Amino acid sequence: MALYASDMPTRYRYSRSDDAQVLDWVSQGIARLGRDEIRQRASRLAGHRKLWLRDMTTPEIDRRHKARFPSARRLGNAEETASLSISWIRVTPAARNLPAVIDGPCPKCDGAGKLWANWVIDEMSGWFEEGYGPCPLCQDGGAA
Ligand SMILES: [Zn+2]
Repeated sequence: MALYASDMPTRYRYSRSDDAQVLDWVSQGIARLGRDEIRQRASRLAGHRKLWLRDMTTPEIDRRHKARFPSARRLGNAEETASLSISWIRVTPAARNLPAVIDGPCPKCDGAGKLWANWVIDEMSGWFEEGYGPCPLCQDGGAA
């Protein structure tokens, strides 16, 4: 996230000898956006990926995603550079465990956060109970 908002060239290719430069870009991006904004963007990016992996993105959610990250190439490169350099950038536990947040009405529960379904209580005995339960797509909070 921080790299996306920094002066890092979109076509930049990471190399070990650039570590100091990458760290500068990270600091620059954090200074531009602020930590809260970066966390929120990272959570929404995780939420978008979760839907995308399930082929469940909606036009509305895609539109917001593209507004936040107009350049898919830049986003890919920023993520790649971050993953290559993550071993030396200290990641706080809070940043590692960011919840995946869906930016828009959830396509599974329509934003209600709950679903009427048959919930498996015990698979072995075939015990199901029908009723409302938390939406597994948008309410479990974990990344995909
Ligand atoms: Zn949902």
